[in-house]
Amino acid sequence: MPTLDPIRVTVWSEFRHEKKNPKVAEIYPLGMHETIADFLRTQEDMTVRTAYLDQPEHGLTEKVLDETDVLIWWGHMAHGEVADEVAERARTRVLEGMGLVALHSAHYSKIFKGLMGSTCSLKWREATDKERLWNIFPSHPITQGIGEFIEIPAEEMYSEPFGIPTPDELLFISWFTGGEVFRSGATWQRGHGRVFYFRPGHETYPTYHHADVQRVIINGVRWARQTVRIGDDCPCAAPLEPLPADPDSDDRPTVGFK
Ligand code: ZN
Repeated sequence: MPTLDPIRVTVWSEFRHEKKNPKVAEIYPLGMHETIADFLRTQEDMTVRTAYLDQPEHGLTEKVLDETDVLIWWGHMAHGEVADEVAERARTRVLEGMGLVALHSAHYSKIFKGLMGSTCSLKWREATDKERLWNIFPSHPITQGIGEFIEIPAEEMYSEPFGIPTPDELLFISWFTGGEVFRSGATWQRGHGRVFYFRPGHETYPTYHHADVQRVIINGVRWARQTVRIGDDCPCAAPLEPLPADPDSDDRPTVGFK
């Protein structure tokens, strides 16, 4: 049986809250990206690197993106500090085939908004809500190992209306104590790449230590893995079969657009 090459994962986060807020640093001492990378590294079919905002080119050089099959993105307070050039580079890589797993407030990141082409706005509240994510697509690869729902004891609330294009697949719908609902797990195909948005992960809660949340992200990486890399091209095409002579000009066959 042929074995696939390991999935090359790059986990990106801002790594700002951890340096400013002791509560966040306590939950994620090495940064949220390292916590996410740690549980991905337990998977034999993945090789994992991390990158963050304050590195040169935000750690997402051409070389790093060339060597990335799936990019995980966590951003919150500094979307505007991501250079347009880097966001566009990552967005282009998705169109070429790289997978993107967009977490929590990555809904407002340049790369996600650029791929969705819509506002990606929502309502939010930092309070004492519990979140229950209902698994509405139990046969999907991303929900394998997840029961009827995932319950997170405390999380930031996000609610509809969520300004996204209608998802190709809707996997989770969240309910919050305050009564709101939200499309919290959704997929889209963009160009040759796959995009998975997964809502949980506000920085002041230990959400990325939650076993079910980890399982969904692991499954999401496998689902989104790059299978092809095809660059953008818009060539004039030579015909595969001989064409009849063009009566309007000399005897040359027509090629492409006239
Ligand atoms: Zn948040």
